[in-house]
Order: sequence, then C-alpha cells, then structure tokens
Amino acid sequence: MSANDQTDYVVALGSNLGDRRQNLRTALSALQAHPAIEVVQSSHIYETPPWGDLNQWAFYNACVRIKTPLNPDALLEFCLTTEVSMGRMRDKKWGPRLIDLDIVWWSGGKVETEHLTIPHPFADIRAFVLVPLSELGDDIKINHCTATVLLETLDQAECAKVASLPGT
Ligand code: ATP
Ligand code: CA
Ligand code: CA
Repeated sequence: MSANDQTDYVVALGSNLGDRRQNLRTALSALQAHPAIEVVQSSHIYETPPWGDLNQWAFYNACVRIKTPLNPDALLEFCLTTEVSMGRMRDKKWGPRLIDLDIVWWSGGKVETEHLTIPHPFADIRAFVLVPLSELGDDIKINHCTATVLLETLDQAECAKVASLPGT
C-alpha cells in the first residue's frame, strides 16, 4: 500500500462509566489492532465536565490521530462496532456511556450524510474535544479554525490533564 492510499482522521474517545482510563485505553487498543489503521498520535487523557446532560459523572476524554485507507462510513462502522463490543448501551441522548468514539475530523473535507457528519457537529464548541485535539497539530482545522483558536473563547478551566493515553 502506498502512502497516498492513506487518509488522516481524528477520533475522539470519551467515557464516564466504569474504569474510564482503561476504557479509553481499550478503545485505543482496538484501533491499534485493526490491520488497516495506524495510530500516529494520541493526546493526553483529560477529565472534563459533562456536556448536554449535566447530571452525570465527569468524563475522561482524549483524541487520537490515525492514518487509514478506510472511507468515513467504514471507519464509523468500526467505531460503532467497537463501542458495542466494549458493552456500550445507548439509553438516553448525551447520557452516561462506557465508551464513545466520534470521528471529529478527516483530511478529506466535509461529509454530510444521514448517518455521518464530519467535522463532528459541536466539535467547534466542545472544550472536551478541543483541548485534547489541540495537542495533535495545527494542520487540523474545524470550520477553518485550529483547536487552539477555537479554545480562546471557550471555558476550559475544568478540563484537567490526568494521564497519558497509551498504557505504557
Ligand atoms: P454526539 O454525536 O452529539 O457527540 P453521541 O456521541 O452521544 O452524541 P451517539 O449515540 O454515540 O451520539 O451516536 C449517534 C449517531 O451519530 C451514530 O450512530 C452516528 O450515525 C452519528 N454520527 C454522525 N456523525 C458522526 C461522527 N462524526 N462520528 C460518530 N458518529 C456520528
Ligand atoms: Ca459524542
Ligand atoms: Ca458518538
């Protein structure tokens, strides 16, 4: 496979049930174990306040940058399958979850289908996405802005770095 077959993506990982750190690392391991996915960069893990439904445990969040020849639909399917295999139950919108894997960005521009929107909706106003995303390089832009620029107008005081993501 040549380097030209590869596309860059950022996947955001989130968890606020069970062993949150281990859940993120298990999801990272699933991405690393996929034969067509190369994880090229990972952010630290941050503890972040809940968003949308405020009455739940704090989250652990991180972002990883991958290279893969998979198209966006195939990567989404892998993310959703990984969530299910880890035991995620979908109860209520924006409710507690063992693991959440969202495609935040890819190098191919915008995607707008019934099942998939890239850049991810709300990514530009979610500090829990932008704080880890800001570690992954200024070539990544959401609506023409880097995560660092978008964070200038957001409250990120409650996003606390807690660990590295790789289990080393
Ligand atoms: P939010 O999408 O606001 O972060 P959520 O992650 O809790 O909320 P889910 O229940 O995990 O939402 O996902 C619902 C659906 O969102 C998925 O089945 C998928 O089809 C769709 N979706 C649309 N765009 C994306 C994306 N960029 N990444 C992941 N899922 C997406
Ligand atoms: Ca999400
Ligand atoms: Ca999701």
